[in-house]
Amino acid sequence: MSGAFPPLREELRGIEPYGAPQLDVPVQLNVNENPYGPSPEAAADIARAVGEAAVSLNRYPDREFVALRAALATYLNSSGGSAIVPEMVWAANGSNEVMLQLLQAFGGPGRVALSFAPTYSMYPEYARDTLTEWVAGHRAEDFSLDLDAAGDLVLEKQPSVVLLPSPNNPTGTALPPEAVSMLCEAAASYEPGGVVVVDEAYGEFRRAGTPSALELLAVHRNLVVTRTMSKAFALAGARVGYLAADPAICDAIRVVRLPYHLSAVTQATALAALRHAPELLGRVDDLRVERDATVVWLREQGFEVADSDANFVLFGRFADRHAVWRGLVDRGVLIRETGPDGWLRVSIGTAGEMAAFRQALLETVRQTTDQTSTRDTA
Ligand SMILES: *Cc1c(COP(=O)(O)O)cnc(C)c1O
Repeated sequence: MSGAFPPLREELRGIEPYGAPQLDVPVQLNVNENPYGPSPEAAADIARAVGEAAVSLNRYPDREFVALRAALATYLNSSGGSAIVPEMVWAANGSNEVMLQLLQAFGGPGRVALSFAPTYSMYPEYARDTLTEWVAGHRAEDFSLDLDAAGDLVLEKQPSVVLLPSPNNPTGTALPPEAVSMLCEAAASYEPGGVVVVDEAYGEFRRAGTPSALELLAVHRNLVVTRTMSKAFALAGARVGYLAADPAICDAIRVVRLPYHLSAVTQATALAALRHAPELLGRVDDLRVERDATVVWLREQGFEVADSDANFVLFGRFADRHAVWRGLVDRGVLIRETGPDGWLRVSIGTAGEMAAFRQALLETVRQTTDQTSTRDTA
């Protein structure tokens, strides 16, 4: 046999699968999970719901997941939205799948997907996998969007999908509603126009006074707001993400989704979890306080820190960030080596986990500096 096996698409050869290292260390602050698991009562309720679903697992699940769409609409109307009806809601196995479906429906050969770097590292993968051209504009030095430049880039590239994480991952930066509105208008000004996806995976963590893009759904037909149960909702293991948008957009996604993509077990789990929403979201305020304290502490130590509306903080800058990341791992604390060169990202954990992080960081930086000065004097 000649040539490479297996016969992988040319552009996929040699590519590493996406994913942060899953290392077994005591303090896991690398993938922005909620550190607080469900209470025994909530866990028992989820187990009961899954048990009830189990007796009819010989049947396919509700393909349109009607009950779940209604429950998600109710939740969204309590979380920054209003007048969101079930026909405006779509869900899938994580918001990653929701966004891939958006690219399958609205991207494709000859079309462009656009975002502004630094941005979520999965977006270019959705574009690659759907043969959509990927264009990345740039954020300003403080990670905000230069609105004029952003609008001009949209008009120039005429993307069919614009991806805007807000709060942004990895920087934590939220977008003001004017920015979202301006980009929605720009993306509606050419033929056939583009959809503007505001990825609010961290929406529930936004600071007081930061509005959700859900408020703009009534104004812009081409706006899509995605959310997830993986972060604030403390349900990353269940794989449930969703969006709110014009019903015509939800209908379009139905064309590309796989049949019965949301299992009966997933639907039962999500519905039961939504009945416990106040409890599962109950630690969000604590995490926001811990986040703000982490930003203040890091600045006191002399680090550069990006303002954050999310449950993580991007800080730097390090001449050798990998050495710092490694030093923390050696002390049992796993954070994320991501973002622009020289920066690191730490997810907000419990108070105890954050104390471990602070100590490990101080020790690591001291050690790295000692080594540098030893080398300097040698
Ligand atoms: C974590 C994250 C998601 C959510 O992913 P799920 O597939 O829902 O777990 C989406 N967007 C961004 C920017 C994220 O960081």
